[in-house]
Amino acid sequence: MDPIIIIGTGMAAYSLAREFRKIDKATPLTLISSDDGRSYPKPMLSNALSKGKMAEQVAMFDAASMAKTLNAEIIINSVVEQINPQAHSLIMADGSQHHYKKLVLAVGASPIITPIEGDASNDVLSINNLLDYTVFRARLVSAKHIALIGPGLIGCEFANDLIAR
Ligand SMILES: Cc1cc2nc3c(=O)[nH]c(=O)nc-3n(C[C@H](O)[C@H](O)[C@H](O)COP(=O)(O)OP(=O)(O)OC[C@H]3O[C@@H](n4cnc5c(N)ncnc54)[C@H](O)[C@@H]3O)c2cc1C
Repeated sequence: MDPIIIIGTGMAAYSLAREFRKIDKATPLTLISSDDGRSYPKPMLSNALSKGKMAEQVAMFDAASMAKTLNAEIIINSVVEQINPQAHSLIMADGSQHHYKKLVLAVGASPIITPIEGDASNDVLSINNLLDYTVFRARLVSAKHIALIGPGLIGCEFANDLIAR
């Protein structure tokens, strides 16, 4: 039987998978993620610095543990490029295909990349996943001045976190 496939391993995907398993322990379930499938509380990315946490300490479970808990297959570091709803299939960036019985998109949102020009434009970071957070922590080691673009809730959380560090 083709599985139910969830694209994504963020909070939405893992919450859905957990709730689904409460009512159905048998139907094959597959999660596919372009990241490494670690389960982590994303809101912690804007307050983990002052707690001294590295990305490894923010992550709660790796993909293998999540697969065991959810009785699911978890395919990581794999990008879904196309969905063919007629054939109930997904075409992956490496050309392989996966067939599904039902499909759930839990792909989150991508940050808007601010169109900034100049010789430091490559230094602009956005922090939307554990890998971004790892890069952010590494860049802080040599950073003398930090400009935060976007003083909304999350911008302010980052500011608090940087000050408290
Ligand atoms: C720094 C920060 C602080 C936040 N603080 C708060 C807060 O205090 N309160 C609050 O309510 N919310 C907060 N949020 C927002 C909240 O964390 C997010 O809305 C939520 O985590 C999104 O979860 P998600 O599962 O929808 O998406 P994501 O966690 O982004 O997961 C998307 C998944 O889809 C996968 N994916 C995407 N495209 C593909 C593809 N083509 N092929 C395969 N896989 C794909 C990705 O690899 C990833 O696994 C914060 C967000 C950030 C970044």
